[in-house]
Amino acid sequence: MANQELTQAPNFIRAIVEEDIKTGKWGGRVVTRFPPEPNGYLHIGHAKSICLNFGIAAEYGGTCHLRFDDTNPTKEEVEYVQSIQEDVKWLGFDWGEHLYYASDYFEQLYDCAVRLIKKGSAYVCDLSPEEIREYRGTLTKPGRESPYRNRSVEENLDLFARMRAGEFPDGARVLRAKIDMASGNINLRDPVMYRILHAHHHRTGDKWCIYPLYDFTHCISDSIERITHSICTLEFEDHRPLYDWFLDELQVYHPQQIEFARLNLTYTVMSKRKLVALVVEGHVRGWDDPRMPTISGMRRRGFSPQSIRKFCEVIGLAKRNSTVDVALLEHCVREDLNRCVPRAMAVLRPLRVVLVNYPEDQVEQLEAVNNPEDPSMGTRRVPFSKVLYIERDDFREDPPKQFYRLSLGREVRLRYGYYITCVGVVKDEHSGEVTELHCTYDPETRGGSSPDGRKVKATLHWVSAAHAIEAEVRLYEHLFLVPNPGEERGGDFKEDLNPKSLVVLDGCMVEPALGDARVGSVYQFERQGYFCLDPDSSPSKPVFNRTATLRDTWAKIEKGMQRSSS
Ligand code: ATP
Ligand code: MG
Repeated sequence: MANQELTQAPNFIRAIVEEDIKTGKWGGRVVTRFPPEPNGYLHIGHAKSICLNFGIAAEYGGTCHLRFDDTNPTKEEVEYVQSIQEDVKWLGFDWGEHLYYASDYFEQLYDCAVRLIKKGSAYVCDLSPEEIREYRGTLTKPGRESPYRNRSVEENLDLFARMRAGEFPDGARVLRAKIDMASGNINLRDPVMYRILHAHHHRTGDKWCIYPLYDFTHCISDSIERITHSICTLEFEDHRPLYDWFLDELQVYHPQQIEFARLNLTYTVMSKRKLVALVVEGHVRGWDDPRMPTISGMRRRGFSPQSIRKFCEVIGLAKRNSTVDVALLEHCVREDLNRCVPRAMAVLRPLRVVLVNYPEDQVEQLEAVNNPEDPSMGTRRVPFSKVLYIERDDFREDPPKQFYRLSLGREVRLRYGYYITCVGVVKDEHSGEVTELHCTYDPETRGGSSPDGRKVKATLHWVSAAHAIEAEVRLYEHLFLVPNPGEERGGDFKEDLNPKSLVVLDGCMVEPALGDARVGSVYQFERQGYFCLDPDSSPSKPVFNRTATLRDTWAKIEKGMQRSSS
């Protein structure tokens, strides 16, 4: 399974876990968690966190919990809860019986809040949200204390109970931790713990009209679940003193929070807020649009879970934020596909070819190799007949110098087939467009070589017109035109959308063996790239997504680096 592959690369988090096991800090236990907020679909950044948390647990004989951080009822939906579970499983991980919801802890969280009030460590504040912001101060200016800060414990208990009972409208009051308004760390300037929100929750219904905030909820949830290593992204480094403060004040079980750098990828956006906007405003066809950096989009595009796990391993872990070249992800995808997917022939922009000397009704079944990298994948039969399609691009009337493919009078090889020579060109009389080629074939060259040793400079893919299946093919490019959308020109990230990120080709002709393709299976279309059968397919009309082209820009970069360092 996934876990074996993930045991290699050492990193600073593994070093901490190993040290803790050695010293017996947690009694040898390793318990991690992946805590998504169900307000969107998971993306490749989440995959990094999933691989890390589940990977570490598996490696050291521990457990990893899946916990929904569902404290924000207005943005969360059941659809997201389901998709998240599906995506984690698809990536190859298993939380077993450890599926949790922060909302299951609402009663315990409330009790913790009451305990803090009783200790004099929390108070009900009547300032408006704007006033709270203003009182908070800035990085250079200390905050001011709220006039409600020194309410008596009794008054605070009474008001908090009435907040829960629904006596006050949204935003009228909050519960705040009483820490330090002059702290250099703004997170410690009496942060809000609870807000009033009369909203329906997808699990607790209308039971609550006060909801706990993230910082308060998260550390206590970790504590309740007896997490050992609470791994999160760097932006929470400044929240760690608050995480520690709550747990110390409550004198409860106290996990260690450890931060790592989040994943950013070139030519895409990763913030859920932006991804939601792309979906809602119709810039993509949905969360699982193959152009999206979501797990479900990548699955639909034809990326395998292995390749995503491999990517998460090779990028490693760091303490400094950086942006990874999306070419590296595509490289991992190609490496994986090249080894295991069958080849097929598909003509994306067909041009009709009539073999003038080929017998009218003859059909030959030619033998084609399924994967030259793996002979165990065997061979298949491809029908060959008098009328074929080749790629329109593979013929030129006026071939430029470096063009070795078909032109009038020139001979080329048809893959697994025969040598053919172009002897005539048929054009549309109005537009002048080439509509058909007339060629002769050499019966002596069956299988693709000539007994007299005659060489040709190009090998073309083709399909038999009478046997081909018509298909739709969707070609994808990066969703954005620039490496850092929205940041390079300072405008809205949507202004950097690539208008050609999806090109739909209709009337493509694919070899008949592809009629058996199942949704999700990937093929290498010879000379074209990797393609995956899309769920939009119907029995009469397959639809293929281009998973990746054959150009591995990352391998080129790597080669260049090796050359310059040797
Ligand atoms: P966003 O800021 O887009 O809303 P988020 O971090 O709030 O994303 P969550 O659902 O809270 O999204 O994330 C769940 C977990 O995944 C967290 O532990 C978070 O640290 C981690 N995570 C989210 N994005 C990334 C990323 N780009 N790289 C690595 N880990 C990530
Ligand atoms: Mg979050």
